[in-house]
Amino acid sequence: MSLADHPVTLADIEAAARRISGRILRTPFVNSASLTALCGVPVGLKLEHHQTTGAFKLRGATNAVLTLQPDERARGVVAASTGNHGRALAHAARAEGSVATICMSRLVLKNKVDEIRRLGAHVRIIGKSQDEAQEEVDRLVREDGLVMVPPFDDPAVVAGQGTLGLELVEDMPDVSVVLVPLSGGGLAAGVAAAVKALKPKVRVIGVTMERGAAMKASIGAGSPVLVEEFQSLADSLGGGIGLDNKVTFAMCRDLLDDIVLLSEDEIAAGMRHAYGQEREIIEGAGAVGIAALLAGKIKAIDGPVALILSGRNVDMVQHRHVINGGNDSMAEVAA
Ligand SMILES: *Cc1c(COP(=O)(O)O)cnc(C)c1O
Repeated sequence: MSLADHPVTLADIEAAARRISGRILRTPFVNSASLTALCGVPVGLKLEHHQTTGAFKLRGATNAVLTLQPDERARGVVAASTGNHGRALAHAARAEGSVATICMSRLVLKNKVDEIRRLGAHVRIIGKSQDEAQEEVDRLVREDGLVMVPPFDDPAVVAGQGTLGLELVEDMPDVSVVLVPLSGGGLAAGVAAAVKALKPKVRVIGVTMERGAAMKASIGAGSPVLVEEFQSLADSLGGGIGLDNKVTFAMCRDLLDDIVLLSEDEIAAGMRHAYGQEREIIEGAGAVGIAALLAGKIKAIDGPVALILSGRNVDMVQHRHVINGGNDSMAEVAA
């Protein structure tokens, strides 16, 4: 299968970049002295955790909202995410004169609810699980005509996330290896599509947690599978890829050179390194690229490495716990 046969191509990503330009930050790309010394090749960090709303998801959400028809935008958008996609969609909708409705279960912490409200979204609290929240999304689409914007499995979302790949190649033209945090695969699919189209020889490697690595298990099985979910420091990497996945499964299967898995201890070490050496506060999901290098899990590095610090929305009590040496998620305690 050639690159042009995938549902998101370089042309789609370049169009997304023009569309969202001026609405998202072009985040800095900096050299990491410590990781360059460790790896013996230049290592650059894309500081995407400085993106507005604290994660890259604003790129995909903004592109998706901007590609809607005016009447769709007027009806409003809806999603069931309480995390970075929910924040991004709330912000993107408001910025474009639309409004987002974010559905969440009664178990979601108050500070998350408040944050989504602060960004201008309507919050609908319903049921006791993410599944019940998703049922409410489906009802709002059916009965009220709202438009669902999925967190990853959508061509406009993938194209938006792919704009990061364009920037990486501009920032580091001689890049040899790109490390991408991986969950549902919207980021990895978009970045790989952009990077491989511009630089076919660059290796693009997905990095995720070993607890519930849905994309890796699905690629191994040959089609999307369910995996058991666990608490993790990289909570933004939780969740499945969807059994009826239409976009990201095939793209990640065809475009990623490898998928590397990390333990909680390794992810915690990545967060500590980001803080102590790079002076950056990042969430667990954003630390996996650093963590993979520290753990020696990226083999045969033969040239410059670029990695994406994807988000910074970590509870600060949790962050202090990790900085002070804790390697476990405090989610159970907090909930
Ligand atoms: C969503 C998210 C990811 C994973 O992105 P996918 O497109 O689901 O693979 C990684 N890091 C952060 C901070 C995120 O919010």
